[in-house]
Amino acid sequence: MDNLEDLYQEIILSHNKRPRNEGVLDPHTEEAEGYNPLCGDRLQVYVRQNGPTVEAVQFTGEGCAISRASASIMTEAIKGLSGAALDAKIAEVIEMLTAKEEPVVDPFDLGELAALFGVRKFPARVKCATLSWHTLAAALKKAGKVSTE
Ligand code: ZN
Repeated sequence: MDNLEDLYQEIILSHNKRPRNEGVLDPHTEEAEGYNPLCGDRLQVYVRQNGPTVEAVQFTGEGCAISRASASIMTEAIKGLSGAALDAKIAEVIEMLTAKEEPVVDPFDLGELAALFGVRKFPARVKCATLSWHTLAAALKKAGKVSTE
């Protein structure tokens, strides 16, 4: 594949069609609900932590392809992380999506997360992509609910 944007789009569509880790995580230790009123995306994120380590993450909800793909990619990207590495990963992705200056990203470093970077081209959709990450952060902080507005 020589066109990176086509590849990004393919990754998003594939995760939307066959989301990884969709469903209520049983048992879970943390959960939060996220809402993006701009688009109407609603997600629940469930986390099971073993000590500080994220053992598993799952999500449920209704939303657009970008919000669902972002949640699906997230559940795979943060598994096994803990403490500072976990916080850093969440911050890195939100920064990558929202920084005014286009960040320098290495698609080979980021893996499928790089596909989310393609969403920067569509500012109205950025909150769709950050929703699951904000919801995850809320779950970890035991904040319960979060809205992108
Ligand atoms: Zn959306």
